[in-house]
Amino acid sequence: MRSRSGMARRIAAGFLPALRRIAQCRSCGRAKAGGVHLVAGPNVYLCDRCVQLAARQLAPRRPAADAVQCRFCRQLRAEVDVTAVGGVAVCADCLGLMETMLAEAS
Ligand SMILES: [Zn+2]
Ligand SMILES: [Zn+2]
Repeated sequence: MRSRSGMARRIAAGFLPALRRIAQCRSCGRAKAGGVHLVAGPNVYLCDRCVQLAARQLAPRRPAADAVQCRFCRQLRAEVDVTAVGGVAVCADCLGLMETMLAEAS
């Protein structure tokens, strides 16, 4: 029994390699500690400082103030990436997810 659960843990660790090492920012290497906040992605972490850096780099490409807010993800999207049905605004990303979900449900 003991070896069985050990094997299950090893298998789980294979699927989730992040479990085997300490959480640290993939970009700058800062570890989760006092004052350092990490955002987890699939098998990757970014610290608050690197997220701010990324946000500054991307700032010029952010949607303009007149962008449309998607009703589903609440993100501001460029007008060209959003459509509306019956006054409900949906962005292209959410629409893609919805189509996938509906296809899986049927
Ligand atoms: Zn970082
Ligand atoms: Zn959306």
